[in-house]
Amino acid sequence: MNTYRSLRESDKEAFDALKGEMKREENGLELIASENTVSPAVLDALGSVFTNKYSEGYPGHRYYGGQEFTDIIETLAINRAKVLFGAEHANVQPLSGASANLAAYAALLAPGDTVLGMDLSHGGHLTHGHPVTLPAKVFRFVRYKTEPDGTIDYDKLEALAMTEKPKLMLAGFSSYTRQLDYERFTSIAKRVGAISMMDMAHIAGMIAGQALPSPVPHFDIVTATTHKTLRGPRGGLILCKEPFAKAVDKAVFPGVQGGPHMHMVLAKAVAFGEALRPEFREYARQVLVNAKAMEAEFTALGYEIVFGTTENHMLLIDTVKSRGVTGKDAQAWLDLAGISLNKNVLPDDPRGPMDPSGIRIGVPAVTTRGMKEPEMTRIARWIDRALLSGGKKRILSVIRKEVKALCKSFPIYR
Ligand SMILES: *Cc1c(COP(=O)(O)O)cnc(C)c1O
Repeated sequence: MNTYRSLRESDKEAFDALKGEMKREENGLELIASENTVSPAVLDALGSVFTNKYSEGYPGHRYYGGQEFTDIIETLAINRAKVLFGAEHANVQPLSGASANLAAYAALLAPGDTVLGMDLSHGGHLTHGHPVTLPAKVFRFVRYKTEPDGTIDYDKLEALAMTEKPKLMLAGFSSYTRQLDYERFTSIAKRVGAISMMDMAHIAGMIAGQALPSPVPHFDIVTATTHKTLRGPRGGLILCKEPFAKAVDKAVFPGVQGGPHMHMVLAKAVAFGEALRPEFREYARQVLVNAKAMEAEFTALGYEIVFGTTENHMLLIDTVKSRGVTGKDAQAWLDLAGISLNKNVLPDDPRGPMDPSGIRIGVPAVTTRGMKEPEMTRIARWIDRALLSGGKKRILSVIRKEVKALCKSFPIYR
């Protein structure tokens, strides 16, 4: 494990906080669905001298000199992303998922254009047109919803698309657990003359690991984050069909960003390389198995599974209906038990986003640690005990000790 000697010697305050975080990650269970644990190789890349370098432009076409090695790593990242996802074009410069989406909108839309996106409380992301965001002020977002059984009614979506005549139809989600029908979605887009876009931020790793079907052959443009199931550095990625390549590259730089973060680009190349290995396929498969094992235990314990079931790496639970505990209390109590996850709004949640009716649970990070079905069962039971604790510190600290003991057998960085 990295001991960060230089930091320890030069800045004790900063080092102590880093040490605290390292211990927190080591001794607790990470169930936030958007988080994961990167490899030591990815950490090395992130801590490299590429953070020193300005590389505005693209390989072979940069504004500043000294680019012989930045060109190598960016080309490596691009080529690996293209192979990994079978994409015609890849842009690896977006600083995050939000900036990848912003760049995609900038590439495809003019102010005032209509976009169909998934409603936030039904699983969509803030960047898919939530009124508080800049894109929602520039473009006209119309949001579609899921049905009470957790699926999307594509006939309804088609009728909505026929009336609204969107320029862009956006699929993708942050807190939705069912598989989308990519063919049906893109055929609706074709029918109404819309560009089709999929934001696979959450499931990019599941797709790279071939545990879930790929949207890439179907959609005109696909955005992703590289730090969620894909298990790379924090960052964004845009894949698209060749006719959109120029517009996408121009929209990322100089459209919405300045110099790319080359240490992140190196770390992306490393993470894509890892995702191309057979072990990553095994990982993605295990993530699905673990999510199912967790769901089975919660179902046995009588919990209400939102959207009916899970078909990916995450699980939404209605804690109010299941145990009379709000999402906010559940999150706070579980924090005290050494289990981190997030409170989450449920479809058309009558409660607000700061104290919603449920929680979201993701298994990517615990699966990276090597945990399998028996551990998923134990974790579900701990969560149940915590929710039944009424927030009593004594009960939660007992759970915390048991959690810590399990974590000891699954070290993150040896
Ligand atoms: C996480 C996420 C994003 C935003 O990613 P950031 O890196 O946090 O900006 C965008 N879209 C979806 C669907 C996401 O889940």
